[in-house]
Amino acid sequence: MKAINPRTGEADYAFDEDSPGAVAEAAARLRSLQPEWEARGPEGRAAILQAFADALERHAAPIVAALEVDTGRTAIARVELESVARRARGWAMRGPQVFAGLPRDATPSATPGFTIEPRWSAYPLFGAIAPWNFPLLLSHIDALPALAAGCAALIKPSEVTPRFVEPLRAALAEVPELPLAYVMGGAETGQALIASVDYVCFTGSTATGRKVAETAARALIPANLELGGKDPMIVTASADPVHAAQVALRASVVATGQGCQSIERVYVARAIFQPFLAALVEAAEAVETTGADPTRGHLGPFIFPAQAAKVAAQIDDARARGATIHTGGEIETQGGGRYMRPTVLTGLTDEMALMREETFGPVIPVIPFDTVEEAIALANAGDYGLSASVIAGDAEEAAAIGERIDAGAISLQDGALTTMVGDATNHSRKGSGLGPSRMGDEGMLRFLRRQALIRQTGTPATIEMFREGPAQ
Ligand code: NAD
Repeated sequence: MKAINPRTGEADYAFDEDSPGAVAEAAARLRSLQPEWEARGPEGRAAILQAFADALERHAAPIVAALEVDTGRTAIARVELESVARRARGWAMRGPQVFAGLPRDATPSATPGFTIEPRWSAYPLFGAIAPWNFPLLLSHIDALPALAAGCAALIKPSEVTPRFVEPLRAALAEVPELPLAYVMGGAETGQALIASVDYVCFTGSTATGRKVAETAARALIPANLELGGKDPMIVTASADPVHAAQVALRASVVATGQGCQSIERVYVARAIFQPFLAALVEAAEAVETTGADPTRGHLGPFIFPAQAAKVAAQIDDARARGATIHTGGEIETQGGGRYMRPTVLTGLTDEMALMREETFGPVIPVIPFDTVEEAIALANAGDYGLSASVIAGDAEEAAAIGERIDAGAISLQDGALTTMVGDATNHSRKGSGLGPSRMGDEGMLRFLRRQALIRQTGTPATIEMFREGPAQ
């Protein structure tokens, strides 16, 4: 397979796709290592996760360099590496504490004559299928707690961003005790992974998530799905319009808008609509694309060329249906890379694709509202329920609105906080996901199966108790 360099547009990296047979082999090898891994106990595994974090830091330069080519981003590439090392250490610390808190003692059953004694064991082999937008972080975000729980882990990164895996394998080679491996490829490799593992976590689009869930259902394994979003932000009349505009801009356009939690719809109270819009346009115009020099500016290229075309099509559709573009709106090609400045639109209607479908670009549709009830109804419309944001004059007003939004994580007085806060247990709603939270302790607990030892403390029933006959 070949991968396109997002800065040059050239397919300059070739790699071998792992066949279904190769995936099965990798899975079998990990399975053979898993019993010993689980037997090390939470503290033993924690020490090895720490060693993995150390190895990542020793190999940071080549991993980040490869990730920079994969994504066209420098600052975020460094943040991804730091975040994975920090999360490995975080689970190394939290894992043993979570295990220490698990109930293990026998307790009397509600049915007299029995006690129930819990036992805990990990799903032997965990599998992850990851997207291209934060390739390193999203390949490991579920695998690290799975390893802490006692699973072996098999990861399939996106075929769009494969370069970071080679230097990552060099880091992993220094921690041979860790039962972790990567398989490379696209849909076929992903399907083979699902067929080989006991638990799959998928991060990606809603359309692919449905296919993953179907295959997992046939294999009778749990599938956790972390899918797309169309996150709304509500800005009430009591909010400071300039402050709110700055937050909306950052939460919408960082990483060129290629984040599931990017704000993609901003509903603003009519009383402050004009000052908000003016501040947003001014702030948006101060944001620079990086262009050919990756060490300057704010917004890198679209990672996946097809993504630029998708965003352009949504903007063209909105323009044709009467939307006004206040700034941005064009795909700029520089040195073979595709870039877009922050784009602010008004005059939007529900039939526009921009208002219904995930955009995944630095695009900020701004819509006025008259009442808070109306704003909540607008925020709750549509197929997604990943996260949302509310900015009001004070946090209590924001919270009262936030708890009525049909989404898993609500940022108050800020936006897209799930990128910064890793322990906010929450469940994605509607088309944005399925299954337990990847954040908080539940992020690890989901990989443990509970077994019940049910003890007879009296005399077992005999078959005579089940003799048919009239009621006595
Ligand atoms: P995608 O669905 O195209 O691909 C994701 C992964 O699935 C890739 O590794 C791909 O090779 C694999 N895949 C594709 N077809 C498959 C199949 N039939 N069976 C098994 N695996 C298959 O997603 P993408 O374009 O890489 O990523 C962008 C999407 O990810 C956006 O929708 C975004 O919102 C979502 N996302 C969600 C979260 C979250 O936490 N909710 C985080 C980041 C990205």
